[in-house]
Amino acid sequence: MVVFDKVLKQFGSNVVLDHLDFTVRRGERVALIGPSGSGKTTILRLLMTLEEVNDGVIWVEGQPLTHQLKGGKLVKASQKHLRQVRSKIGMVFQQFNLFPNMTVMENITEAQIHVLNRSKAEAVDRARELLATVGLSDKENAHPTTLSGGQQQRVAIARALAMDPDILLLDEVTSALDPELVADVLGVLRTIAETTDITMLLVTHEMGFARDVADRVLVFDEGKIVEEGTPEAIFTNPQKERTRTFLKAVL
Ligand code: ATP
Repeated sequence: MVVFDKVLKQFGSNVVLDHLDFTVRRGERVALIGPSGSGKTTILRLLMTLEEVNDGVIWVEGQPLTHQLKGGKLVKASQKHLRQVRSKIGMVFQQFNLFPNMTVMENITEAQIHVLNRSKAEAVDRARELLATVGLSDKENAHPTTLSGGQQQRVAIARALAMDPDILLLDEVTSALDPELVADVLGVLRTIAETTDITMLLVTHEMGFARDVADRVLVFDEGKIVEEGTPEAIFTNPQKERTRTFLKAVL
């Protein structure tokens, strides 16, 4: 479960998240949509602790993300606590971010071995399982540069899942792909959504993706949630004028 409790994030005088409150339940798939600059990616970056909140608290699986409860008070978290909370969260980026000098297998086993302390054999077994899930069993010895964008993105998804995260963050994972490769990646994500109980937060400009995979859609504008609902409700019967103008522009 992820809870944003009155989260304020600003860059200088630019308020990017304006005392934002929302909850994502365990196993829920939530799509974050809205115009460019509305704060969607910042939400994912805060969860990855790549940015810090200015005020408010983010809770992940019942623990404050960057703070620890000590004697009933919130104090800044130790590095150990941060690593522990962060290890529950996986992220897949628009630009794949694979290690180019490593094979597909090495990309997927590296952190399993060095962060989770798995044996090489265990890590390889898990990687093979996941390569089968993403349809790339024949590519374990390939280097990322020899793969298509869609294949690279599927490796990146397998790499994130290899860490057995409770929460998976997906930031525009289909934006850098040629249209004919998007369907493969969406198919993999749909399978993961159907066969696991991983909580997913996905930022997307691809409304079909949000509609297909999400249980709930949050519509953002200027750092606030303007409307939320099921994909059906948001895409076929939006209640807010701001949602309607946004959807008209992107659909
Ligand atoms: P997009 O759909 O274009 O990716 P977004 O909704 O994900 O947009 P964010 O990337 O979260 O929006 O950015 C929200 C605002 O925060 C923007 O005004 C952006 O310029 C600003 N911003 C983001 N990161 C930084 C930073 N590191 N320094 C200064 N301003 C930033």
